[in-house]
Amino acid sequence: MSLQGKIAVVTGGSRGIGRAVCLRLAQLGAFVYVNYVSGVKAAEETVEIIKEAGGKAIPVGFDVADADAVQAAFKKIVKEAGSVDILVNNAGITRDGIMARMKESDWDSVLDTNLKGAFLCSKAVSRSMMKKKSGRIVNISSVSGFTGNSGQVNYAAAKAGLVGFTKSMAREYASRNITVNSIAPGYIETEMTALLEVETQEQIKGEIPLGEFGKCEDIAGAVAYLVSEDGGYITGQTLHVNGGMYM
Ligand code: NDP
Repeated sequence: MSLQGKIAVVTGGSRGIGRAVCLRLAQLGAFVYVNYVSGVKAAEETVEIIKEAGGKAIPVGFDVADADAVQAAFKKIVKEAGSVDILVNNAGITRDGIMARMKESDWDSVLDTNLKGAFLCSKAVSRSMMKKKSGRIVNISSVSGFTGNSGQVNYAAAKAGLVGFTKSMAREYASRNITVNSIAPGYIETEMTALLEVETQEQIKGEIPLGEFGKCEDIAGAVAYLVSEDGGYITGQTLHVNGGMYM
């Protein structure tokens, strides 16, 4: 598997799953734009780790939910790099709470970042991919979008929405040799899941056939496969990486 010469943009690449994806793509030879919104230090750290390992990367700060900022960032990236071969829409947030008490702003911010963000970035990158007649887009969904999750009506709606978005975009762009897929992680060891009570973590593990939370590298490996030549005949699909908790 080689991504030598490819240009990749990973939204929310500063930490967690996004950082692992950046490291993996860089390890395979891609030049990686590591996106963040506020965590510039973490993004720079990700870039440092990549460079120390002999890879190429640069941090790029913009809010995926801000249409003007997204447009400006991708314009600059395409001008600098010539084109974008790989886009990983990974940036995501949670604003959990039972529906009766969920504020409209919690609904809006999760939908704006997790769903509209993917639309804005994909739209911004598609022109360069169409010109090149090749491209790979991977949207990071979630098992919550398939099973639903109490306390996550906003998050589950956004993540389920990403699947419909993925399939529709895959159909629209297939003739330009652009593949669009999603990955639905189960529970992965990150800052997001570290927030769960230890008791809740143990209860969840009991419901996972493989008995453990996944690692960020498990998702990074799945992304690498989908964006590689080996994954070239796969489009419009969701790859479930969840230890068997949802089949
Ligand atoms: P983290 O909270 O660890 O990291 C989130 C990343 O998204 C950070 O890099 C953050 O940047 C970035 N980000 C957040 N909002 C924006 C924004 N508006 N614009 C640009 N970047 C933004 O998340 P995880 O690594 O846990 O999750 C990554 C993805 O995987 C998310 O989409 C999540 O929903 C999904 N997922 C995670 C699971 C898990 O178990 N962890 C399970 C299923 C899905 P900054 O540092 O600047 O804030």
